[in-house]
Amino acid sequence: MRSVVWFRVQDLRVSDHGPLSDAVDGGAVLPLFVIDPARFTPERVAARPHATQFLVDSLRALGERLESLGSQLVVVRGRSVEVVPRLADAWRADRVLAQRRTAPAARARDARISAALGDRFRLYGGETLCPPGSLRTTAGDPYSVFGAFKRKLVKQVVVGQPLPAPWELPPVPPDVAAQSEALPTCAELSLDRNAQLLAGGERAAHARLRRFLEGPIERYPDRRDRLDAEGTSRLSADLAHGTLSPRQAWVASLEASPAGAAGQRFREQLLWREFAYSTLWDRPEVLEHPFRPAFEGFPWQGDAGLFDAWREGQTGYPVVDAAANELRESGFVHNRARMIAASFLTKHLLVDYRRGEAHYLRYLTDGDPPQNNLGWQWSAGCGCDAQPYFRVFNPMTQGERFDPEGAYVGRWLPALRALPARFIHRPWEAPANVLDAAGVRFGQTYPWPVVDHAFARERFLWTASQHLRAG
Ligand SMILES: Cc1cc2nc3c(=O)[nH]c(=O)nc-3n(C[C@H](O)[C@H](O)[C@H](O)COP(=O)(O)OP(=O)(O)OC[C@H]3O[C@@H](n4cnc5c(N)ncnc54)[C@H](O)[C@@H]3O)c2cc1C
Repeated sequence: MRSVVWFRVQDLRVSDHGPLSDAVDGGAVLPLFVIDPARFTPERVAARPHATQFLVDSLRALGERLESLGSQLVVVRGRSVEVVPRLADAWRADRVLAQRRTAPAARARDARISAALGDRFRLYGGETLCPPGSLRTTAGDPYSVFGAFKRKLVKQVVVGQPLPAPWELPPVPPDVAAQSEALPTCAELSLDRNAQLLAGGERAAHARLRRFLEGPIERYPDRRDRLDAEGTSRLSADLAHGTLSPRQAWVASLEASPAGAAGQRFREQLLWREFAYSTLWDRPEVLEHPFRPAFEGFPWQGDAGLFDAWREGQTGYPVVDAAANELRESGFVHNRARMIAASFLTKHLLVDYRRGEAHYLRYLTDGDPPQNNLGWQWSAGCGCDAQPYFRVFNPMTQGERFDPEGAYVGRWLPALRALPARFIHRPWEAPANVLDAAGVRFGQTYPWPVVDHAFARERFLWTASQHLRAG
């Protein structure tokens, strides 16, 4: 039996990898990665610089790991829909094994490959804890409410033990190995490396998981929302690229914190991820349209200047601007800051959530369409089990509550770093001598607010209620 194990961009690991484990059970194993123009043209690389750096590093780590096991990653260029069936024939493969994907474009591509290869093409779970689309309400419908989805999953799904990494792999036959190209490097892709990004690869993912489970998980419930603390796992890029499987995160956290509230709270977040995948699986149209049809045709305003101010950290609202800088500089934004920034863009500035969603996907290392879309639609109030539209975050009180000393703002917004905590989330209230002492000059070192908070809040509520009433 000759099995091609086709690694894609979301399953870059050798442990808990269903296709690899199955392939190892019999005969030759041909690990394949396709450098597909769908992800690797210069435009596409430039459109996702941080995620691409993480991807390049994770691919290199995967290649090294396969070599240490006696095999190698065979790297081939071309469109997957053409390359995979062609290689399957040329390499006389009995089967091509890969992990199933949820993203609509990947599903469409897999359907075409399946049509070409028939039952030689086999897809495995692993992207999620349970197969998206498998949980249904008693009426047989997909879930629209997270709480009910979560209860059903906990009742119905038994999360099994992760599969171990193989001890060793058979060598790739020389005729196949000879066709492999080198993996791309950041330099070849014209990517300037960003030293602030997390390291990619399976080993780095497990080190992050261990670090989290050895300490921060215990305080996760009360620190996960704190912008000024490293209270979360930072596993999102690993889960998005599959350098860690959700099952590995789930089981490891269960072993580290079996019944305690800390572990449960963390696992609940993993279930939000499941909910996001499930929603996209059942309703792929959410990537283009609001989940709630009543929001179709919402009168978003197209003020490019305001969008640019938000994107560049120039709104005059410190916590919103800090989040913008954190994103551009480090490829990450704390979840609470994502919610505040997304709420501000959509509700204060009335900018279409899809513009923010695209900007986040561009710069997040963990940029993941199911979760990103859910997060943006949640924040805008138009999504599946979203925050009600009439809840408009107050950026000052959110900042004061979740960044009380102003450490987060100070870190990502140096212009305000010297302000006392009392004024850092509302600098316009600081007396002139305090501003002077901190070196803050409105309009020069830091902008005035682009919109008045109370006015913006009322404007959104009025706009939304008018639109929803008319619909
Ligand atoms: C506007 C917006 C956009 C977002 N875009 C993305 C995205 O592109 N990719 C992404 O992975 N997450 C996204 N999230 C969810 C969340 O912000 C990140 O998963 C989290 O901040 C990652 O940090 P962490 O790994 O330390 O999280 P932890 O708190 O340690 O959580 C563990 C894991 O649970 C999952 N998770 C946590 N919170 C959520 C959530 N609210 N919804 C879905 N899954 C969650 C993630 O996989 C995360 O890695 C978005 C949220 C918002 C509000």
